Formats: sequence, C-alpha cells, structure tokens
Amino acid sequence: MKVLKFGGSSVASSKSIAKVINIVKNNSHKEEIVVVVSAFGGITDLLLDAGRMACNKDKLYLSSLKQIEERHLKVVEELIPLATQSTVLEKVKKMLSNLESILEGVFLINELSSKTSDKIVSYGELLSSYIIFEAMKENQLNVALKNTQELIVTDDNYANASVKFELTNTNISSYFSNNTHKVVILPGFVSKTETGEVSTLGRGGSDYTASIIAAAINASLLEIWTDVSGMYTANPKFVPEAFPIKSISYQEAMELSHFGAKVLYPPTIQPVLEKEIPIAIKNTFDADKEGTLITKTTLNTNPIKGITHIENISLITLEGSGMVGIPGFSKRLFEALSQKEINITLITQASSEHSICIAINDADAAIAKKAIDTAFEYEISLRKVAPLTVEKNNAIIALVGDNMKSHQGISGKMFSTLGKNNVNIRAIAQGASEKNISAVIAHKDIKKALNTLHTTFFKNQTKQLNLFVVGVGNVGGKLLDQIKQQQHYLLENLKLEVRVVAITNSRKMYFDEDGIDLHNWKEQLENGVSLDMNLFHKKVTTLNYRNSIFVDNTATEAVSKLYASYLKESVSVVTCNKIACSSAYSNYLKLKELSVEYHAPFLFETNVGAGLPIIDTLKNLVASGDRVTKIKAVLSGSLNFIFNNFNESATFYEVVTQAGIEGYTEPDPRIDLSGVDVMRKILILARESGAKMELEDIENVSFLPESSLNATTVPEFMETLKQEQAHFNSLRESAEKNNCKLKYVATFDKGIAKVGLEEVAVNHPFYNLDGKDNIVLFYTERYHEQPLIIKGAGAGADVTASGLFADIIRIGNN
Ligand code: ADP
Ligand code: ASP
Ligand code: MG
Repeated sequence: MKVLKFGGSSVASSKSIAKVINIVKNNSHKEEIVVVVSAFGGITDLLLDAGRMACNKDKLYLSSLKQIEERHLKVVEELIPLATQSTVLEKVKKMLSNLESILEGVFLINELSSKTSDKIVSYGELLSSYIIFEAMKENQLNVALKNTQELIVTDDNYANASVKFELTNTNISSYFSNNTHKVVILPGFVSKTETGEVSTLGRGGSDYTASIIAAAINASLLEIWTDVSGMYTANPKFVPEAFPIKSISYQEAMELSHFGAKVLYPPTIQPVLEKEIPIAIKNTFDADKEGTLITKTTLNTNPIKGITHIENISLITLEGSGMVGIPGFSKRLFEALSQKEINITLITQASSEHSICIAINDADAAIAKKAIDTAFEYEISLRKVAPLTVEKNNAIIALVGDNMKSHQGISGKMFSTLGKNNVNIRAIAQGASEKNISAVIAHKDIKKALNTLHTTFFKNQTKQLNLFVVGVGNVGGKLLDQIKQQQHYLLENLKLEVRVVAITNSRKMYFDEDGIDLHNWKEQLENGVSLDMNLFHKKVTTLNYRNSIFVDNTATEAVSKLYASYLKESVSVVTCNKIACSSAYSNYLKLKELSVEYHAPFLFETNVGAGLPIIDTLKNLVASGDRVTKIKAVLSGSLNFIFNNFNESATFYEVVTQAGIEGYTEPDPRIDLSGVDVMRKILILARESGAKMELEDIENVSFLPESSLNATTVPEFMETLKQEQAHFNSLRESAEKNNCKLKYVATFDKGIAKVGLEEVAVNHPFYNLDGKDNIVLFYTERYHEQPLIIKGAGAGADVTASGLFADIIRIGNN
C-alpha cells in the first residue's frame, strides 16, 4: 500500500483536481492507494480570516464566507455531472450552512477560542475530501471516504494538537484491515480529542496526517504531491537557480523543513522514520519529474544539501554586567519564554556571558519583551541588566547537510560570501551535530543572501550581473544593443547572465525585475514612469540584487554625484562620465575608498580614450610594481579631427562646424577647444599614476585668441572663429613651415601636467595620428627607453559603449 498526499495547491481548482484523479488512477492499477487531501488552496486562510473577523464583530466575515462557498460550489459544478450534481451540492451546502452557523455564533458572542477556531478551519479539509471523493467516483474509481477525525486522536492543544499514537495507530490499523476498496480518501490536518472535540495538527499538517497513516499501515512509500518538483536546494520561488535534491536523508529533510523548507511540514518525518518508509516529493503539475526521495541514508555526499530561510524573525537580546558568571540567568530567561509558549529558533551567547541573544517569531516579540522584563524587573531596577532589546524584521538563513562536519571551511565560505555582498550578519549559530549553520540577517537581504550562497555552494557558477542603466542616448543606446547581441554568448561561454533591470532617459525610467527584453526597450521605456533619481536609488537598494551595477552614460554632474550613495550599498559603478573622477581629489579618493570598503568596483575606463584599454593598462602597470615617469598623449578625438582636417582648402571655422555636424565635438565645442576636456583626461591619468593633483594644477596655454575665450554663447564663439581666421591660419602656416603637424598634446612629467597645441615633427609617433584617433605613450621604470603605446579610435558612441561593456564584463569576471 502506498499513501499519496495532495496539498492545497494541487487541489486549488477543478483543473488541478482532474490531474490529481489521474495520478491516483494510474497508481491504483498497481496497488491499493490511500489518498490524503488538504483544503483547496487558500481556503484555510479564508476560514481563519472569517473566524477572526466574526470575532471582531466585522461583518466582512460574510464576504470571506461567500468566497469559500463560491469556490466549492464552482468545483462541484465543474466536476460532477448533472445527474448526480444536485445530491452532491445539497451535501456541500449543508456543510457550508453548518459552518455559517458556527461563524454566526462567533459573531454574536464576540469570542473565538482556539477550540472553536479548529472547528471552523476543519471545514476546509472536510469539504475538499468529500468533493474529491465524489469526483473520483465519477471517474470509476473504487473509492471510500473516511473521516480522519474518527482515526487520529490528539490532546486538547487546539490548533497544534499532539497525537496520541497508541489509540490512533489502533484505529487506523483496524479500519484498514477491514477496508475492501482500492482507494481510500481522507481529509488531512483534522483530528479529534479523546472527548470527541475537533482538533487540528498545525498549519501544513496534512503532510503529517499522511505520514501517521503511512506508518500505521506499514505503507511501502509516502508520496507528497505538491506544486514543485521536489525538495529544492533553496526555495525555488526565491532562487531561480535552485534545483531539486534527488536524494536526501531523513535528518537532512527534517533540518531543512525546520529551517523553512515549507514543502514538508517538519513533524512529518518522525512517524515514517521509525519504520524507514521512504518519502517521495513529487509535482502534481509535472508528474513525470523524478522529485526528491527521502530515506535513511543516501549516496548524495555533497556536504551542503540545501539553503533555507525563515522570515518574520525578531532578535531579542538580554544584556548586562550583572549577568556575568551568575548561574540561573539563562534558566530564568528560558522559563519566562516557555511559560508564554514562545518557540525559540536560535540562541547565541557571547563568551563574556555579557549577553544572550535569541531569535523568535516577530508575532511573539511583544509578549516576550513583557515576560522577560517582568522576570528581570529587580535586576533591571538595579541596572545590572538592561531592559530587553527587540529587533524586528529579521530572517534566519541556514545551510543544511549531514556531511558538513567532515568538511572544513564551510562557515568561512558562508560568511565571506555574505560579507562580500554587504549582507550584515546579526547572530550566528551552529548546532553541535554540525548539520546546520544558521545566521540572522535583515529581512531585506533574504533574496540576495540565498542567491549568492546558492551560487557559492552549488557550483552552478553562472554569475548574474544586474545593470541599472542611466542614460540611453547615443552611447547608452549602443551599449544596450551590444548587450542584446552578446547576452547569449556571455551566458554560454563566460557563464555570465547580464540582465538590464532598469533604464532611464532624461524624462522616464523603467524597471523590470526579471530583466528588460532588449528587443523593444524603447517602447518599454516610453511606458515607464517619470524619472526620479531618488526613487531610482530606493528601487535599486530595495531590489538588493547581488552584483548590481549602476551604469552612468550621461555627462551630467548631478548623476556623477550619486556614485557614493550606490557604492555604499555595494552597488558597483561603471561610468563614461568624466565629472566624478576629475572633480576635487578628495571626492575621487572617497569614491575609490568606498569601492574598496564595500567590495563594489568603480570603473571608468571610458573616461580616457573611449574604449581603448588605457586606464586598465595603467592600473596593471601600477599594481605590478611599475612606476610611471612620464605620459605624453593626444587625448581629444575632436581636436585631432579638427587639426587633421584644417588645411588650405578649409577655414578653421568650417572644420569646427563640420566636426560638430559629424558629432565629434561636444554640443558646446568650447569644452573641446578650450582644452578642458583634455585637462580632465590627463588629470585622471595622473591620479591613476599616483599623483594627488587638482584640475587647477594643470597648465593650459590656450591656442584660442582672446575674443574666442571671452565669448559667452556658442553662436558668439563660432562667430569669433570666423573673425579670427588670420590667427588660426598663422598657427597652421607656422607648422607647415617647420615641416610639422599641429597636435593638441597632454603631458604629465615629473609630477607636472600641462595641455596645449604643439607642432610635432615627422618622426614623432603623433605625426601620423589619423582622423579622431587617440594615442598615449607611457614612460615607466620598465618602459623607459621605448614607451608603451596605446593607439586607436578614441571617440564615438560605438567604441565608448564597448568600453563600458568591457568594464561590466570585468566586474563579471572578478
Ligand atoms: P502544498 O500546498 O502542496 O502543501 P506548500 O505550499 O505547503 O504546498 O509547499 C510547497 C512550497 O514550499 C513551494 O511552492 C515552495 O514555495 C515552498 N518551498 C520552500 N522551500 C522549499 C524548498 N527548499 N524546496 C521546495 N519548495 C520549497
Ligand atoms: N490546510 C491546512 C493548511 O493550509 C493544512 C495543509 O494544507 O497541510 O495549513
Ligand atoms: Mg504544505
């Protein structure tokens, strides 16, 4: 004989019930089957709500009742053919009317004991088992319905009753030894006391019902059918990469369920464990999947079997110098909690004995505080002990596995993973049996903690990068295109899952927590909400994804001022915006320090030479112990374009206008022509070489005439270029006369930086620099004779985007 239990999600609708009947039918060909069912999904909650509302004199209980009625009547109408429907409906309506009378009573007397609550909540399973029984009969199953309340006997601890096994086992054996049906269906969760009062086995208790029956009849197997394909390495609703554990021991399953794996109600293991009856966890909606097999021993030697979590945890701490060395404090503390029937999930005590820290349910926190403060009233009045502190909104995460004890370094790995991801650990506990290491963390960190730990311990090795992209103009748009094109390659070859979670333009912002489909990001952004960078920050930190990256594709100062606020949340920053790195040295330094402190890379390769690997090369030189002695560079693609095209056939004004049309200059060409842009770039290179330098320290001898420098608007400035034709021509003619070319050169030499127009001779590496290319010569202690040269396209949206992309991948490979 085999026992099959179907949970609420498996019987939530007539469609799912049809699947259940099919599964039972397929199994009943081979052997006798016992079926235990839960209430239809969501009904237990509705019943409990209705009871509470009735007790509070809230007439809305009637609307919960109505929903309960409609759900059941609908299933009957959909599953039971007309010929027999009215008989079944009549019976169901009778049960519902009994339920209504109880609720009415609660409403009238304004009182709800746990005993009455059990009566109310038992209707969920009583109704579901009856309806499914009738539907099974319609499907030609040779089936009997047996009310578990006539079999399972408990004490009178209503809502969470303890089973009296001797009586219960006798009842079950004697019923089944006289049974002649192929299939017997029973309601889960419900039971009765010795005096015949309705009791229940605790939330999720239908699993337990099935296990009690399986043990009493010596079943060959207990199957728990649910909405997931087994017991997973972590809750699959939180960790998309989690996978079903094929095989696991009773002990491990018990530990996982105790620490939050809701798929199995913790007491379920005990009855079958003694008889060594295996438990299989299977998916009603994907019946062919293998699922999980729970047995006494397993061949699965992975030290960690799963990662679980418990939500709604409060951390209570009793602290004070009066506790040191005095026995009995802990006893009084635990007694106070036990008298209030408060369940303790985790305990830690510091070696100084100064404080004891306990994790309990949020719901129990207020009662615990009152009880403990009362128990220690005397010591608190003498200030030997401080009043109990309560911190709500925490969670426990736990690593579980039988073989942990024989593996070193697991807790180290656990805590360093959490630390690297900025997950603060409030308390730690490791059971002496070493089947479990648990830590208390903030509720907001659950998802991140579970996912990063899962990647660390389950070797899936796919690393997810979550991008929050500000600015989708020329460069940002190209970046999104490049990511779209490479997403598949990166996943397959580098095991990097690059997701763009948010995008903004200057008006709107759009978030998609599952990653934006980059095929139509423009339309999606148009459907976004108004841009609000405060809200954006809040959303990024609330989502709290691992490997979050803030990507700045703008050139605005306001955005550059936000970097610190992201780095402090361990969100990396990748930017092509030069403003932050060329702002005050103290600010540049602060960002670098935050990056180190919060393990969040701050990368800005595209600040100099667009996509050329200039800063990365410089960093590698410095990191490997080399010292930069001199840098000489042409760093402005715009100025290079302008001076390369400035010849006899075109005036300076015409060339600058053309550069603007082709997008090689900033919208305000003064930024390029004044040399400010190049100053910023050489400043960044000087700083990356180790110099503590400010923008004002850079010498800038302008090639512009006085009138151009004094122009206050762009049109005025352009007009001066026209007027000063002779000035610009004389610059060109002088170079030609000396057989040289004009190049705008940045130099950093012996701690001094300068920028300016230079005449370079034929044999100089700058002489043949084409188009809008950049070139950098690094003279270092190792490259002292011939410099290390980096040369190539130094401007343009495409290459800048690919530089940003390279920084993003650098973070992925980190
Ligand atoms: P049922 O209604 O079938 O009793 P439950 O909701 O009680 O189902 O249990 C199944 C749910 O348990 C899953 O949908 C999943 O969200 C949750 N769960 C939590 N941890 C785990 C885990 N480690 N493996 C599988 N499921 C888990
Ligand atoms: N229906 C009960 C609950 O929701 C018991 C169960 O489903 O296991 O808790
Ligand atoms: Mg359940």
